[in-house]
Amino acid sequence: MKLVIATTNANKLREYRELFAPFKIEVLGLKDVNYTKEIEETGTTFAENAIIKAETVSKALNCLVVADDSGLSIHALENFPGIHSARFMEGHSYQEKCAELIQRVKPYKDRSCDFTCAIALAIPKQPTQVVEGKFYGEVATSYRGSGGFGYDPIFLVPSLGKTVGELGEEVKNTMSHRYLATTKLIALMKKAGIIE
Ligand code: IMP
Repeated sequence: MKLVIATTNANKLREYRELFAPFKIEVLGLKDVNYTKEIEETGTTFAENAIIKAETVSKALNCLVVADDSGLSIHALENFPGIHSARFMEGHSYQEKCAELIQRVKPYKDRSCDFTCAIALAIPKQPTQVVEGKFYGEVATSYRGSGGFGYDPIFLVPSLGKTVGELGEEVKNTMSHRYLATTKLIALMKKAGIIE
C-alpha cells in the first residue's frame, strides 16, 4: 500500500516516514510522485486547509493522501497568527517574529495560547477524515531556548516552567500537538484497515 504525504517539506516527510516505519506502507512525498502544482490554502481553519490539501492531491493521483496544517494561536489576539503562522512577517527570522508577538500580547493579562495540528486523510471514493491535536501553553515573556523550530522558544509549558525551545525534542514529542494528532491518525488508519 502507498501513502502520499501532501508536502514538499523534507523534514515533515522524514517525520511521517519515522511514524509509519513500523507499518507495511510505502510513504511518498509530492516530489516522489512528481506533483508540482501549487495548492492554494483557502480554508479558514487548520482542518479546512488540511482537507483541501489532502483532497486536491488524492483526486489528482487517485490514491491515499495525508495532509496536515499547523500553527500557533494566541487567544488574546483572536487566535493570531493561527493559519497564517508560516506566512506571518515573511522574510523575517523567527526571532523577529517571536519578538513581535511578545510585544503584541504585552497589554493582555491572558497570555494563553495553543499549537494546533490538523491532519486530513483522503481515501479515494470515501469521505475524508480529519483529526486534530492541541498543545496548550502560554506566551513566554522572553525568547528562551534554542531547541525545536518556529515559535517553540516563546511557547511556555507552565507545568514544566520551560519553553518548548528549552525542552528536548524527545520530551516535546511526548506531548506536542503533532504527537497527539499523529497518534489519532494511526488509530484512524488501523480502524479503516489501512494499516495493522
Ligand atoms: P505548516 O503546518 O507547514 O503550514 O506550517 C505551520 C507553521 O506553524 C510553521 O511554519 C511554524 O511557524 C508554526 N508551527 C507549527 N508547529 C510548530 C511547532 O511545533 N513549533 C513551533 N512552531 C510551529
